[in-house]
Amino acid sequence: RIVYVNGEYLPEDEAKVSIFDRGFLMADGVYEVTSVLDGKLIDFEGHAIRLSRSLNELAMRNPISKDDLLEVHRELVRLNEIDEGLIYLQVTRGSDGDRDFAFPDPETTEPTIVLFTQSKPGLADSPAAKKGAKIISIEDIRWGRRDIKTVQLLYPSMGKMMAKKAGCDDAWMVEDGFVTEGTSNNAYIVKGNKIVTRALSNDILHGITRAAVLRFAKEAQMEVEERNFTIDEAKAADEAFTTSASAFVMPVVEIDGVMLGDGTPGRIAPRLREIYLDEMRKAAV
Ligand code: PLP
Repeated sequence: RIVYVNGEYLPEDEAKVSIFDRGFLMADGVYEVTSVLDGKLIDFEGHAIRLSRSLNELAMRNPISKDDLLEVHRELVRLNEIDEGLIYLQVTRGSDGDRDFAFPDPETTEPTIVLFTQSKPGLADSPAAKKGAKIISIEDIRWGRRDIKTVQLLYPSMGKMMAKKAGCDDAWMVEDGFVTEGTSNNAYIVKGNKIVTRALSNDILHGITRAAVLRFAKEAQMEVEERNFTIDEAKAADEAFTTSASAFVMPVVEIDGVMLGDGTPGRIAPRLREIYLDEMRKAAV
């Protein structure tokens, strides 16, 4: 695999970053994951805008222009012959060669930028999406700035492991009785023709896929309500689903052992998945 590190394209075993990098020592960094379908980028613009925002919120310099970033994404797709898959992008604060809680001087410290591809044939035509996901609920004990897409992913990783141990696919996190989001996706329930999802705030990541899916839902005359919902309300819903750049729209068929509807993906989520994939393929760059 050819990867990109600080301006260079290199074989993955030749790519190097400092052990003093604050991304490594302190999870001081942000990331984006952009999907590739038909060798083209899905919603590149949305990811580039959110990257700028995350960097800005952490007072970190953006090491690359949007045009250059697009070029790097495209070059990695070409070099690695990706037809369907993901591109991972990470920017960390870098280091001044020592460990200190205070940020190093941004004038003299270069951020570290790394990109690599993951080939995932069958990403769009996924058997998992036809079956639907079984989820468990866990307490949300993450920090208070979940709107910033940082690389502090230990608790979400632990959540996935708790789900696996319970024989399930994923976990939804719950705070003060209300669902915040999934470990790596936004969460939705469906009642009749109405889609309910938590409103944007610092409590959840502002999903790029969420924005597109809600737009398509409204265009398809589905009702959208952005408000908090409890895990009990979710268990009593007709359907549920999640959205993310890496899994698109994923139906949820079971929550904490309670089957939703007849335990199959339902009507709305598969339809939204189809609309999303169709429309986003057309708009891909
Ligand atoms: N929420 C969390 C916590 C995530 O980690 C992610 C994606 O990684 C999402 C939501 C979905 O965001 P997006 O649609 O931009 O991939």
